[in-house]
Amino acid sequence: TYPTYGRIDGPLVIIGFGSIGRGTLPLIERHFDYDSDKLVVIEPDDGVANFLKQRKIRHIQQKVTRDNYRELLGDLFKNGKGFCVNLSVDTSSLDIMKLCHELGVLYIDTVVEPWEGFYFETPDNAKRTNYALRQKVRDEKAANPGGTTAVSCCGANPGMVSWFVKEALLTLAKDTGHDATAPTNRDGWAKLMQSLGVKGVHIAERDTQARRVPRPRGTFVNTWSVEGFIAEGFQPAELGWGTHETWFPENAHGYDTGCQAAIWLERPGAITRVHTWCPTPGPQFGFLVTHNEAISISDYYTVGPADAPEFRPTCHYAYHPCDDAVLSLHEMFGSGVTQTKHHIMEPDEIVEGIDELGVLLYGHEKNALWYGSRLSNAEAVELAPYQNATGLQVSSAVLAGMVWALENPQAGIVETDEMDHARCLEVQRPYLGPVEAHYTDWTPLVNRWELFPEDIDESDPWQFRNVLAS
Ligand code: NAD
Repeated sequence: TYPTYGRIDGPLVIIGFGSIGRGTLPLIERHFDYDSDKLVVIEPDDGVANFLKQRKIRHIQQKVTRDNYRELLGDLFKNGKGFCVNLSVDTSSLDIMKLCHELGVLYIDTVVEPWEGFYFETPDNAKRTNYALRQKVRDEKAANPGGTTAVSCCGANPGMVSWFVKEALLTLAKDTGHDATAPTNRDGWAKLMQSLGVKGVHIAERDTQARRVPRPRGTFVNTWSVEGFIAEGFQPAELGWGTHETWFPENAHGYDTGCQAAIWLERPGAITRVHTWCPTPGPQFGFLVTHNEAISISDYYTVGPADAPEFRPTCHYAYHPCDDAVLSLHEMFGSGVTQTKHHIMEPDEIVEGIDELGVLLYGHEKNALWYGSRLSNAEAVELAPYQNATGLQVSSAVLAGMVWALENPQAGIVETDEMDHARCLEVQRPYLGPVEAHYTDWTPLVNRWELFPEDIDESDPWQFRNVLAS
């Protein structure tokens, strides 16, 4: 009784079969028509060999590397058809995307991932930013426009949250008596955000999923890729930098090339705390972990020239991962040593909790609006196998992105801001649990600890100066 969204002709290659790859497989099986003997999983980890063998899925047990990717993928896609679904760490999204473009093969990923070594062996912090990684993809799009569709960064965030921003804008427009007709192009969306008085967007997430057993010392526990989280956590904190900001952090750097929509701080994102808000906890700390969407959203909603915008929203991630991951970060940064034992919580060991992931649009006449998914693990296991709530928010976005790519096969390189958000959410929504809009009168100036003086701006609650925790 599940809808079939289309046929994938030619090879269907999944690169990486970790928590997201395993979660995406059942959705692909459920919603696409394809030749099962053309499904291939490239995954170096021996641990998944049995799972794939039992399902008669071809398994290429090796790493995709800078040295072998052209030959390996070129051989699989030699007939110039098919779909490459890149869900691995340590593989260059840009190089693989370019190869797929050359071969006429559809492509999707959930992050602009670099080749192995980039995150910890690049000495220059400016070059370790997501700004640098993303800009190369944007430059490739500009240099080679059009062609076979390659969807960049289509997970939950980056990904789905860009569709939520649009839904939230339409909700806000309706609730404040503005024209709530969906704009049809980038300029229209940017002007809608500007006209509604939105100053910025937090990607505000609270993950409350928990196991019964306490986190063992020395193990990094998370609800999705530990490797991916450690890598991004050690990148500099980054944020899209809005036109309403009157203060500039001392340790920040801007850009004079590229989209110029963001700044980065001389500090790892996973120990940079911000004040934010989610429906379940209300006010909370989040980590300002760098993410592609912080830059893409600020870029997409810019009105006017890149170097002298008339309007641009501030945008950043404000992530409270599951409690075990908070403790894992605390241990890792405290000791200066990265744990060698990693654990991603399995859906059947999680005894409670939800992943509450949404966008908090702030600074407008109704103060702040959170719009997002509040998916529990209990509901996720009813909806699809092999994944927790976090995984399902990501894999269902991959599904939506794949559907959009099949329906728009010649769109060239696109980010999720540039896709039809209504169609994508239509596909994804059955997997998101409650998707809700919540207004709040909370601002970063509420509930401050008054016994200690702080460097804040009491005249303007939504300044980043007030959001950044001291
Ligand atoms: P994971 O760590 O569970 O799995 C990654 C898999 O990639 C592992 O099985 C690993 O063996 C495999 N791998 C490593 N090097 C490889 C190589 N060179 N070639 C092929 N496979 C290789 O990670 P995950 O939770 O499944 O996440 C996968 C990717 O998705 C990560 O890059 C992560 O950052 C990204 N992600 C994005 C979102 C989002 O919302 N946009 C959310 C979660 C994860």
